[in-house]
Amino acid sequence: MIEPLQRDDVLLADISGTPREAGRLDLWWLGQSGYLVQHDRLRTVFDPYLSDSLTTKYAGTEKPHDRISGRVIEPDRLTDVRIVTSTHGHTDHLDAETLGPMFAVNPHAALVYAKTTQSLVDARLESASVQQIAMTAGDRAEFDDATVHAVAAAHDEIEVDEHGDHRYVGYVLETGVFTVYHSGDGVPYDGLAEALQSFDIDLAILPINGKVGNMNGEQAARLADRIGAELVVPCHYDMFAFNTADPNDQFVPTCEEVGQAYRVLELGQRLSLTQSD
Ligand SMILES: [Zn+2]
Repeated sequence: MIEPLQRDDVLLADISGTPREAGRLDLWWLGQSGYLVQHDRLRTVFDPYLSDSLTTKYAGTEKPHDRISGRVIEPDRLTDVRIVTSTHGHTDHLDAETLGPMFAVNPHAALVYAKTTQSLVDARLESASVQQIAMTAGDRAEFDDATVHAVAAAHDEIEVDEHGDHRYVGYVLETGVFTVYHSGDGVPYDGLAEALQSFDIDLAILPINGKVGNMNGEQAARLADRIGAELVVPCHYDMFAFNTADPNDQFVPTCEEVGQAYRVLELGQRLSLTQSD
């Protein structure tokens, strides 16, 4: 079992003890594609999966979801959150057992999600009073301290429903001087890098597991380079035994090869960016 670098009380102490200022952005890896991003007054949680719902669901089946790392925090211990995202309807990105407790302690948070997953949101989000912001690629949501843009994701392929709305998206979060791209699940596709080049991306968070519809570490490193990301952080590994990857196999060597700046985080570890102008 992989032990998080920081978890529970230690993680919370680090989050609350980190200064909240306009000139810095801090993020913590919560596991799989989950990140807490803190900038000034704004706390955003990308795609949290902080339960064992998939392990329970698939126990004893042909696709067991055996956990290989410990949970960093219970979802109802993350407070003062304004934005929670879900990039698509798969449970590791839209989890009832995470969202229920999280919104119970964050009644003023908004859920930003793919419009095509409305029926899943209705089924998995217990509280009807949660502010829901349905997105498809090209949409943007404005908050007091941030703008969130939805970008199409190809979770193997780009899929749209009968209304032309995307089943899988990623998000660009602009907050103050910082721009963060969280791709959600997917592989590179024609036009993705071009779409992202119009943003001035400081940090890209990209999957590296290289299976189940996701890019591998080499593709992630090359995509980060193409979109001009100042820094790239790998995600979507170290959660389930059947669906993981080692960042040192492809991601790190390719970043080194192409000269892409990167950081590999441990679970619960903080990454701090400071304004560099
Ligand atoms: Zn996933």
